[in-house]
Amino acid sequence: AAEPVDPFKQGWLKGVYNEKPVADVQTRFPPEPNGYLHIGHAKAITVNFGFARSYAGRCNLRYDDTNPAKEEEQFFTAIKDMVNWLGFEPARITHSSDDFDRLYDLAEELVRRGKGYVCHCSAAEVKRGRGGPEHGPRSVCKDWSRTVEDNLQDFRAMRDGKYKAGEAHLRMKQYLGSKLKGLAENPALWDVAAYRVKDENYHHRTGHKWKIYPTYEFTHCLCDAFEGISHSLCTVEFETLRPAYNWLLEALDFKQPASDEKGPMQREYGRLNVEGTILSKRRIAMLVEGTTIPPVVRGWDDPRLYTLVALRRRGVPPGALKKFVLDLGVTKAIANTATHTLDASIRTYLERTVPRLMLVLDPIKVVFENLPDDYLEEREVPFDPKDKEKGTHKVPFTKVIYIDRDDFREEDDPDFFRLAPGKSVGLLHAEHPISCTSFTKDSSNKVVEIKAEYGSHLSPGKARIHWVGQSAAYHSPIKAEVRIFHPLFKSSKPNELDWKSGGYYDNVDPKSEIVHPDAMIECGFEYIKKNAPWPKEEGEANGMAAKSSVRFQGLRTAFFAMDSDSDEASGKVVLNRIVSLKEDSGK
Ligand code: ATP
Ligand code: MG
Ligand code: MG
Repeated sequence: AAEPVDPFKQGWLKGVYNEKPVADVQTRFPPEPNGYLHIGHAKAITVNFGFARSYAGRCNLRYDDTNPAKEEEQFFTAIKDMVNWLGFEPARITHSSDDFDRLYDLAEELVRRGKGYVCHCSAAEVKRGRGGPEHGPRSVCKDWSRTVEDNLQDFRAMRDGKYKAGEAHLRMKQYLGSKLKGLAENPALWDVAAYRVKDENYHHRTGHKWKIYPTYEFTHCLCDAFEGISHSLCTVEFETLRPAYNWLLEALDFKQPASDEKGPMQREYGRLNVEGTILSKRRIAMLVEGTTIPPVVRGWDDPRLYTLVALRRRGVPPGALKKFVLDLGVTKAIANTATHTLDASIRTYLERTVPRLMLVLDPIKVVFENLPDDYLEEREVPFDPKDKEKGTHKVPFTKVIYIDRDDFREEDDPDFFRLAPGKSVGLLHAEHPISCTSFTKDSSNKVVEIKAEYGSHLSPGKARIHWVGQSAAYHSPIKAEVRIFHPLFKSSKPNELDWKSGGYYDNVDPKSEIVHPDAMIECGFEYIKKNAPWPKEEGEANGMAAKSSVRFQGLRTAFFAMDSDSDEASGKVVLNRIVSLKEDSGK
């Protein structure tokens, strides 16, 4: 058989490797621990960890925690969980803050080399110095020409708390004063800040030790160098920052000019943009916490969201996300997609993988008048008729069964091929067809019971419907609450709604979560629960996905997974619809 194609050894990623084909490939995934990860981060995780794995290298998880006050413990744990859930184990877990001492020493070294200066300009003055239509030509400020000794002293004064936020910055002496064409035209090189003073300076790991904090531009490339990163893969917004990345590494001898041989090499891939949902942390927080408006979702892991915790809770297999990311392709181009395209990809993934069961969303009781009370046929049912290897299980066919309300009509119609008075229909996995003789309704005009016949004398008709038998011996049916999700917003472009003054609220679809409180599942569910995840999913073997790894296809209904609200002790089962069986299906 042909070798399976390794997506990390194709196309753009292969090119990146070939630019620096080292034996010890080392990458990193560097999230800021200030929120939950979303579907876009699944791309960053897959690219960084997958690339390292394919080239027999290592990938670190680096918490980029240079911003005091923003970080919360829950985000650290959730980020690591998501990396593990996607099937990756960091070679090391690092924190940018672990290197604060070393970063500070290098900042002093930069000053000693005449490549850093303490600037006291206001934000407006800095802007003016950078030039432009309003400000005229670029110019340097009075602080640009201070002596090394003076800068060193003033930088230490910054460190020691002499200044308030905004009163002093350590700036890198890049190309602001240069008349060079090319590099000097890049604003990322107009003497950007390396360190700034923070008034609210409590850091969750270093406490009040630091009153100054390094910027992204100063920290990121140096932490890459400290960790021995060979390929620093990031998103395209950082492409214009690449010269600044190299500038600092060269200024401190971590890299040679115009060469990627020594030190880390930054390369940029296109972001993953998903249309049809909200990914911004701030906006999701509004949905979760509510503002002046009540919350609209159950939490950060509400299955209608596209955070990774939400996708996991919904039951999406981690392998489906990785496949989605790789199928879209890793190139420099931005990968623009939509939630329904992701859902379609998840559907295809599940179709080939998960076992199948019968589940009745909205049951109607059917009683067979021509069968004795203790009638029992044990049916041997395959978990997947198209895949014999998945095996079979036994379900009881009995005098009382339940079918879905959708599969019954009080009045027959020639175009309707399921159950109606006087009409017969086939049952999936049962021996004979059934036919409706009469039905009864309750005071609210709802059909509550169907009387029917079962037997070989009936014509099977054109359709076969699903059902669940009633037998105490088989623990059938299993009751469940089923939650069906639709897009949270009526608009397909919720980012364009009015988020400033709360207008988004009117666009929330009240039907985005439909609950079926009285659904019934056949007894094969117990076997699936015991054997979850089935099939095995990398990243779930260690119980990471917990309940949501219990997945199946409900025949003729949808794909489902067990929700975290389920409770083993009380026997409460809650299911989430992962995706529908077909696009635009109401179920
Ligand atoms: P957001 O702006 O959505 O809060 P972020 O970029 O601030 O996200 P970080 O935690 O700083 O999030 O990102 C960690 C890594 O994930 C970075 O390397 C970043 O480039 C990458 N990343 C973030 N969003 C996406 C995305 N949509 N597609 C691909 N990679 C992404
Ligand atoms: Mg960020
Ligand atoms: Mg961002």
